Amino acid sequence: MSAHIPVEVLGRYAAGDPGIAPDVLWATETHLERCADCRGRLADASDGDTVALLAAVWVRVEAARTTAAPTTARRRWLPARSARWVTPVFVPWLATTVLVVLVALGFDLAVAGRHAAPPSLVVLLAPVAPLLGVASAWTRRLDPAHELVVATARAGLGLVLRRTLVVLVVVIPVLAVAGWLVGASPARWLMPCLAFTAGALALGRLVGLPRAAWGLALLWAAVVVGPSIVTARLPVLLTEAALPGWAALTVVVALALVPRPGGYAELR
Ligand SMILES: [Zn+2]
Repeated sequence: MSAHIPVEVLGRYAAGDPGIAPDVLWATETHLERCADCRGRLADASDGDTVALLAAVWVRVEAARTTAAPTTARRRWLPARSARWVTPVFVPWLATTVLVVLVALGFDLAVAGRHAAPPSLVVLLAPVAPLLGVASAWTRRLDPAHELVVATARAGLGLVLRRTLVVLVVVIPVLAVAGWLVGASPARWLMPCLAFTAGALALGRLVGLPRAAWGLALLWAAVVVGPSIVTARLPVLLTEAALPGWAALTVVVALALVPRPGGYAELR
């Protein structure tokens, strides 16, 4: 952590500006937890109303704490520990991903055996299939609990990686079964799949995870999926000959993620 919070960001934060970008907000709050100087600057930047409001809130919190009776916790449908791995937001996005793979599978099975059949849609879509879930791993717009997550000490790359792992654990078996049904070896799609996931995480640190994931998916659709369907030929990128290239790319991108593990919670 080299930089302190810029004056302009601190001012907007103190004023409660809702327009602060989520990654900036996350980095700001993480930094505030660790930096007494910036906490002092925040106190100076806050206006009298905010300080008075905080004081009033503390009086009520203290009063409630001393008078409240212990309550019985409600049963949760997810155990508390699982929140580190999944968020309920995942469910609709993972369901959508599975549905997309099933539609692609249905298309493949429908055209199978035909003369001049187009290349397998399952194989064409597999490299970007996890990106829908990855996009929802860390985003303010899709996750109602985002503010709580951002405030936790474990927020950051570790949390994003754990959630990404959950996405892969769900999506890869579905792709494996669909690929097996259309006779496509995992060698053709598994490495591209991992390369795109790692790429989204690396890019996400720069431009935000949802933007990175959607950008890569659209790029793949425009450059590879579209032309392959039009020309009815499997792109060379998805043949087994391209496997070493994908493996090398995955390693390079993963190494780019390693040196700065705090990247998702750092001030820029
Ligand atoms: Zn500071």
